Amino acid sequence: MKSFLLPVALLVSSTLATPAIATSNASSLNNAEQLREQALRSHLGYDIVESLTVEVGPRLAGTPADAVAVAWAEAKFAELGFDKIYKQPVTVRHWERGHANASILAPFPQPLAITALGDSVATPQGGITGELVFFDSVAELEAADPKTVKGKIVYIDARMHQHREGKEYSLAVAGRSIGSSVASKKGAIALMIRSVGTDKSRMPHTGNMRYQDGVKKIPAGAISTSDAMMLMAMKKRGKAITVNMDLGTTAYKPKTSYNVIGEITGSTLPDEYILIGAHLDSWDEGTGALDDGAGVGITMAAAKLIQQYKPKRTIRVVLFANEEGGLVGAKEYRDANEAELHKIKLAGESDFGARSIWRFDSQVHPDNLDVMAQVAKVLKPLSINHGDNKAGGGPDVSILPAKGVPVFSLRQDGTDYFDYHHTANDTLDKINPEELRQNVAAWAVVAYITAQAEEELLPLAVK
Ligand code: ZN
Ligand code: ZN
Repeated sequence: MKSFLLPVALLVSSTLATPAIATSNASSLNNAEQLREQALRSHLGYDIVESLTVEVGPRLAGTPADAVAVAWAEAKFAELGFDKIYKQPVTVRHWERGHANASILAPFPQPLAITALGDSVATPQGGITGELVFFDSVAELEAADPKTVKGKIVYIDARMHQHREGKEYSLAVAGRSIGSSVASKKGAIALMIRSVGTDKSRMPHTGNMRYQDGVKKIPAGAISTSDAMMLMAMKKRGKAITVNMDLGTTAYKPKTSYNVIGEITGSTLPDEYILIGAHLDSWDEGTGALDDGAGVGITMAAAKLIQQYKPKRTIRVVLFANEEGGLVGAKEYRDANEAELHKIKLAGESDFGARSIWRFDSQVHPDNLDVMAQVAKVLKPLSINHGDNKAGGGPDVSILPAKGVPVFSLRQDGTDYFDYHHTANDTLDKINPEELRQNVAAWAVVAYITAQAEEELLPLAVK
């Protein structure tokens, strides 16, 4: 019998044939339940996020604070008594925000709350002034006649609404990530977008953007959703709107950052890994409590709590460098460890805030679905449903299934995640300690049960 726990019917009929396996599996299951209850009482996850946000704070990749975060992570793994701690170099861009101001000059002058998009070029001294041309989406901009755009500042008003799964993010984010290149190709002088967020506040949301090769780089910023609403109401007055946008960004030489890795060494299968992780970098506006300090606290704490049960397989916690710059640390991790990826038997990243988990998904070999069913059973008392076998695994690990690595997702309630995401409001006070403990419990259960599984954990078929 390969599965971790025997189905009840088989237990009855074959108990005598396989008593040893049944006993050891049963004790693993007992341990998993104990671990879950312990995690629900543990402050460790919260203490780790508090430590990161208080002692490091904002930690944009490539900045001096990023280096402080790397040193913090190594020291924290050591303080917690992880068996093996090491880091892997990653080349990251070094960009800093500087000042960001914007205002409407005509027809009804007033200031706008704005932030630069990550990697945006600066405006000339004193800012750039132009008339706004309005679009609802990047798709609409793509279809526009260049004559209507030339010499103007493109404004994209892509909206998103609160949703447990953050459903509209991938649509709304297109304006942020490629809007400046699309606008530039049509002759625009700058890009302004409605923040990609679900809040009603004057906190603009930053985030990554990328200039396409060979396209003239134009400055790009996001105004708060409150200002976006006012601006759209002003547009209804039918008069041309002129704005000034002043961004003081600076691009420096690329720097070396690190993926920081801590392991709890497996007792009998040390060369097989259950990888759990989060990203260590954050945007510079807030303290990165939700994105992704919470994930750091959840996964470090889960591994630490498992340590006392001496897992069979190794629990590897990877704190990825520069996720915000476009999975930069994750791609380096994948490429530098190419020959060893088959040893990773399951991987998952926590990167969607700190609210309660409501669903468990996997993407594993069909023969391992019974192990996932056992995991789901122990997650059930945490009010977590068993979902499907189509998990993405989280941003940084989402690139691993293409290499055969199985993944899982513990899906959090993201209803208010995009209220705070990439804003100055992403701070520790947004974390509910009780919900964070539920997360730690769930991560500990998944990692521990899979680390103990009696059956061989198989790779995914690579297409
Ligand atoms: Zn993140
Ligand atoms: Zn982020």
